[in-house]
Amino acid sequence: MAEKRDYYEVLEVPKTATAEEIKKAYRKKAIQYHPDKNPGDKEAEEKFKEAAEAYEVLSDPQKRARYDQYGFAGMGGAGGFSGGGMSMEDIFSHFGDIFEGAGFDLGDFFGGGGSRSRGSRVRRGSDMRVKVHLTLEEIATGCEKKIKVRKLVQCKDCNGSGSADGRTETCPTCKGSGRVVRQQRGIFGMMQVQSECDTCGGEGTIIKNKCPKCGGQGVIRDEEIIPITIPAGVAGGMQLTIPGKGNAAPRGGVPGDLLVLIEEEEHKDFVRQESDLIYNLLLDMPTAVLGGQVQIPTLTGDVKITITPGTQPGKVLRMRGKGLPRIDQYGRNYGVGDLLINVGVYIPEKLNKDERKLIEQLQSSPNIVPGAADKKNFFRNLFGI
Ligand SMILES: [Zn+2]
Ligand SMILES: [Zn+2]
Repeated sequence: MAEKRDYYEVLEVPKTATAEEIKKAYRKKAIQYHPDKNPGDKEAEEKFKEAAEAYEVLSDPQKRARYDQYGFAGMGGAGGFSGGGMSMEDIFSHFGDIFEGAGFDLGDFFGGGGSRSRGSRVRRGSDMRVKVHLTLEEIATGCEKKIKVRKLVQCKDCNGSGSADGRTETCPTCKGSGRVVRQQRGIFGMMQVQSECDTCGGEGTIIKNKCPKCGGQGVIRDEEIIPITIPAGVAGGMQLTIPGKGNAAPRGGVPGDLLVLIEEEEHKDFVRQESDLIYNLLLDMPTAVLGGQVQIPTLTGDVKITITPGTQPGKVLRMRGKGLPRIDQYGRNYGVGDLLINVGVYIPEKLNKDERKLIEQLQSSPNIVPGAADKKNFFRNLFGI
């Protein structure tokens, strides 16, 4: 069997993609490689199956979390997905809805065999947004953060059903369909208008004996501590999606996602420029002239660097690999940035009598005053002109 491709790569979505983005990406692939569009094309069929496999995992918050943590190793057997691929019938029976409005007749494709009965609407909890503040040190290594969020969680008294006795009844208004049909007068006369049933909110069932703790909602507001793995190299403004950790849905729906917005704390020594760090080093005059060793900070501790004699202000020293890890759109690291050291030279403004005398002596010394070539080189090196 050929090497398996990363599921995010298959669907061409970032690792931080929302459920909606994943669904959209899968729909695009599924339509592109649909067998009706590519009759007899084995490669298209493989691509079609590959996309379905990726979607099967990434559309399920639990499977996705396991995949994110353990990769393909986390997929083996558990959760009913063997990794051996899905049959075409499986794909259509699982994900047939994805083709709605795409102009494919699935019944025709399977000789009328593909029935697609749809159950009542599944409720989804809302997404939650939290901010997490990170230092550059935390960003350099990646880290675990425990975030306390106040959100809707499943009511334990009724297991999220909202019912005190565990019983639900068919809605008498809509007879379980969740929809009601009304007659409405429109510009072309009487029209039939379908809308959601008000009695049951479109669920088709009602609860007579409501759970007293949650008032029949199946959810209560509570605090939860959620561990979040922050990959190395993230930047302020990025958003991570933790599937299924948002608000719980009323009465047994699927929970929303937790969206984690990264905020970067200012660092006392460094300014970040993508994966590079910039440090401003101000040398005293004698060290710039004579050379020597100076201590500079890095994210992994102080290091000593050698200043060569005659170091000019405006010079940029580069320490390779002392920046931040680079991160791609799939959340994977590739390489590390550099630490750039901007060199300045401090010209003292206040001098005592002795110092003034020393500098005055220097002034009349032959190598202190720049010549025409020195002047040209200096500005060419500094500004390129
Ligand atoms: Zn109803
Ligand atoms: Zn309850």
